[in-house]
Amino acid sequence: MRYSQYLLPTLKESPADAEIVSHQLMTRTGMVRKVAAGIYSYMPFGLRAIRKVEQIVRDEMNRAGAIECLMPMANPAELWQESGRWEKYGKELLRFKDRKETEFCMGPTHEEVVTDIVRNTVNSYRQLPLNLYQIQTKFRDEIRPRFGLMRGREFIMKDAYSFDLEEESADKSYEKMYQAYRRIFERCGLNFRAVEADSGAIGGSFSHEFMVLAESGEDAIVSCDGCQYAANVEKAEIRVSDAPAPDPAQSLEKVSTPNQKTIDEVAAFLKLPANKLVKTLIVQTSTEELVAVLLRGDHELNAIKLHNLLGTEWVVMAEDAEVVKATGAPTGFAGPVGLGVRIIADNDVRQMSDFVIGANEQDAHYTGANLDRDFVVEKFADLRQAVAGDSCPRCDGKLEGWRGVEVGHVFKLGTKYSETMGATVLDDQGKSRALIMGCYGIGIGRTVAASIEQNHDENGIIWPMPIAPFQVLVAMLTPKDDAVREASEKLYAELLELGVEVLLDDRNERPGAKFKDADLIGIPLRVTVGARGLKEGQVELKARAGSDIEMLALETAAASLKSIVAAAL
Ligand code: ATP
Ligand code: MG
Repeated sequence: MRYSQYLLPTLKESPADAEIVSHQLMTRTGMVRKVAAGIYSYMPFGLRAIRKVEQIVRDEMNRAGAIECLMPMANPAELWQESGRWEKYGKELLRFKDRKETEFCMGPTHEEVVTDIVRNTVNSYRQLPLNLYQIQTKFRDEIRPRFGLMRGREFIMKDAYSFDLEEESADKSYEKMYQAYRRIFERCGLNFRAVEADSGAIGGSFSHEFMVLAESGEDAIVSCDGCQYAANVEKAEIRVSDAPAPDPAQSLEKVSTPNQKTIDEVAAFLKLPANKLVKTLIVQTSTEELVAVLLRGDHELNAIKLHNLLGTEWVVMAEDAEVVKATGAPTGFAGPVGLGVRIIADNDVRQMSDFVIGANEQDAHYTGANLDRDFVVEKFADLRQAVAGDSCPRCDGKLEGWRGVEVGHVFKLGTKYSETMGATVLDDQGKSRALIMGCYGIGIGRTVAASIEQNHDENGIIWPMPIAPFQVLVAMLTPKDDAVREASEKLYAELLELGVEVLLDDRNERPGAKFKDADLIGIPLRVTVGARGLKEGQVELKARAGSDIEMLALETAAASLKSIVAAAL
């Protein structure tokens, strides 16, 4: 490709709405152009990186025995009504009607469509296991599209769906995808962790998220410094300490805490660390019930754990008016003593004694509170968010914390869709059985963006070779110089001949501008063809990731570059 004939509209400035590096650089290098909120055109340079990731994904999916198909973006409401998700999905599902007033939605994921295919085409256990995948455009009407391709509304996803008869083979299908994902993200050159994720009702460790480590990541994750354990904080288990609580030494005493509502305010006011306080959260469940949840002052509630424990359809923080009704005091002064609702507590509260709690009275707290003596907890459970420094739930190590971008997700679905939609086969006894499903997604655009989050410097992108839009940039330093032009053209032609993906910067730009753009667009290898080097029959090679310059003989430069590229794939 010739730069002069290519469409690579680089920008000096980042757009105002680009908060994170990948969004800034993808816009500045003209990889994407925004069409509407969360909706982008993939420009030629960006599309090349997208296609590279797709190809790696396709290779590894095929290698793992999955079969490619392509399902439609427009999904009939009928299928979604059958699964029950037409009602449940909420506003992320973009719904529309055709000219006959038939309802449709844009597929945000394809369990319904794929289950429909399988129930109509697979009827014997002999056709199993089956794994169908596609690389396709999804639409989710995200409430807050942002960060460019990281959280778009229209985005490309690889989604795969496995179908098995037996649990054991379903687990194998899952394991195959898990391993394929590891290879995919390794091949993309990413620093990632596969973390245990919440799998809701299914339980166990049958959901893993693949997280690319990056400061801008939206997810908090922890991993052990001593073993392989890694988990999303939404899911991370907390090791239950068996140390008994110290014996109570204080009596319950009401103290005045005027206007001190938050844990930080009360702790500062009483000159105590937050871990000497217990916070009482009043939550409301879908069964209309109010529940008090106790947590150590410095700990945060994990809403997913609470939800899983209570098992109701939803759980929300109670409205202020409900809190007043339940506690007799405004929000900020709730406490467990004399409270007329169910009380559940995080395990760590069990290790506490002589702590501070709200007194269910405006501007008052209790000090010297103790379990059992002053109030009774119905149930202790793991209800809090893990934090760095916690003990590992699997070994004696400590948990480390960081942020991650979720690029992939593997999930064992079980028979949820096959049962509601009637995807069954006959087993070897002739008995009809619901298929056990798994679903496996990778965000293609998000993977490219995550790679840029990890691979850049202040001058621009530093592409890892396997997903670089081009492998080699040939900078024709002074196009007006015949010798330079001829040598560059020759090298360019030779590289093309060898199958190297090369961009020839043949623009009439000053060398400084060419180098600046070369750094910005980040092609892994830059070869500079200049008059001075040519006098010695040489060209200059510089890797984008390094600072060393190496001279190559023009005669053999193409072959040398070809082997450097091949070694980096
Ligand atoms: P998130 O928690 O980030 O919303 P999700 O749990 O909704 O993700 P899945 O439904 O598991 O995501 O989708 C599979 C993959 O699709 C994700 O791992 C992610 O890489 C990608 N993905 C999901 N939503 C988006 C989006 N809005 N924009 C770009 N990629 C996305
Ligand atoms: Mg989502």
